[in-house]
Amino acid sequence: MNLRAVKGMNDFLPTDARQARRVEEAFRRTMERAGFGEVRTPLVEPTALFVRTIGEGTDVVDKEMYSFTRHDEGLTIRPEGTAGAARAYIEHKVHAAETVTKWFYTGAMFRAERPQRGRYRQFHQVGGEIYGDPGPACDAELIALVVEFLADLGIGDAVVHVNSLGGPEARARYRQVLVDYLTPHAEKLSADSQRRLASNPLRILDSKAKEDQEWIASAPRISDVLEGEDLAHFEGLKKHLAALGVAYVHDTQLVRGLDYYGRTLFEVKAAKEILGAGSTVVGGGRYDTMIGDLGGPATPAIGFAAGLERLVLALGEQKAEESLLPVYVCALGESAVSPALVIGRDLRRAGVACEVDGRGQSLKSQLRRANARGARIALVVGEGELARGVVQLKDLAAHEQVDVASAELLASVHARLAKATP
Ligand code: ATP
Ligand code: MG
Repeated sequence: MNLRAVKGMNDFLPTDARQARRVEEAFRRTMERAGFGEVRTPLVEPTALFVRTIGEGTDVVDKEMYSFTRHDEGLTIRPEGTAGAARAYIEHKVHAAETVTKWFYTGAMFRAERPQRGRYRQFHQVGGEIYGDPGPACDAELIALVVEFLADLGIGDAVVHVNSLGGPEARARYRQVLVDYLTPHAEKLSADSQRRLASNPLRILDSKAKEDQEWIASAPRISDVLEGEDLAHFEGLKKHLAALGVAYVHDTQLVRGLDYYGRTLFEVKAAKEILGAGSTVVGGGRYDTMIGDLGGPATPAIGFAAGLERLVLALGEQKAEESLLPVYVCALGESAVSPALVIGRDLRRAGVACEVDGRGQSLKSQLRRANARGARIALVVGEGELARGVVQLKDLAAHEQVDVASAELLASVHARLAKATP
């Protein structure tokens, strides 16, 4: 029997979990401050939901989904969060309750990819979606929020890439321009791209295949065919970003997988090379037709998702502060164990983090662990002390010890902890 984790799926031991939580807490703070509410959707959705939103011909739908059949239903463990949120938005008729909806989520996502640094089969995303606001101000604010979030985390040197795909007409025009340009070179493209030339030529621009890069680099740009309202939208976005002081590059090569993307697209790349395949930590874009196409009322929307593991890699050596345990309760002798447990519980009730040592070991061994845990105070509960109605308080930082009457213990501990560490 193989009792190892599934390939590409990671354990987070407490040190890693602390890093993850730091990312999630910074994210939560940023989003709640901007009026976003949290949405939690199931890990499993109907397969058809992802096929319709992400689209056939994408890596995710064609190769990466964990899909299975149960009770005659085709199900998929979610590869991303946008589809489930959109489904929930429609299913609960949220549009009827409010004209603009702002949601964020955090959670595990699953893609059967080839595992490598920064690319896993179970990974985590933090993401946000805004429904009901079509304007470029909305896009600029969302991008700026992402930048604030990264800065809050300590990733201040990430680079924002933006592009506009235009609306459906601009894309149709561009599609033709692209096909005309690529067709003469078709046989030099990767097999995937040759197929996509007929089915979905825009995806070729997203290809990571080596043989495609030369053709992608010199391909005509969608920005060359933008006009009218599409152009005005993109200009509006750039104006607001400039006003917000968000440094960005207009990346004319930026296209992203989803079928539904239109107009604003963006990615954020860490300054540091954190993985083999580039350093993209955040991807997002506008998807104004998805909600309508899924059977909801026509509702413009924009969203983004950031990869938590990649953010942790971008943080590098910056370690999350370990939360120290200020008080360690040592029980000396069998009859002291129950009273020590009670003291520990009462301290926690009073908001003091502590650990009780009821292992029955020597004081020396208990104090060694108290130090290893970073405790500021050790409380020694011994049979002799109990008989006298006191507890011995050892201030491990000040190297002092005093007997404290049981009734005064809480006040004493609070007073000591309130004093600066000597
Ligand atoms: P990539 O081009 O790296 O495959 P993607 O376009 O598939 O990324 P999105 O679907 O836009 O990625 O997901 C948004 C973010 O989620 C990515 O920028 C990345 O940070 C993270 N992410 C995506 N796939 C993985 C994965 N397999 N492992 C870890 N993080 C991932
Ligand atoms: Mg991918």
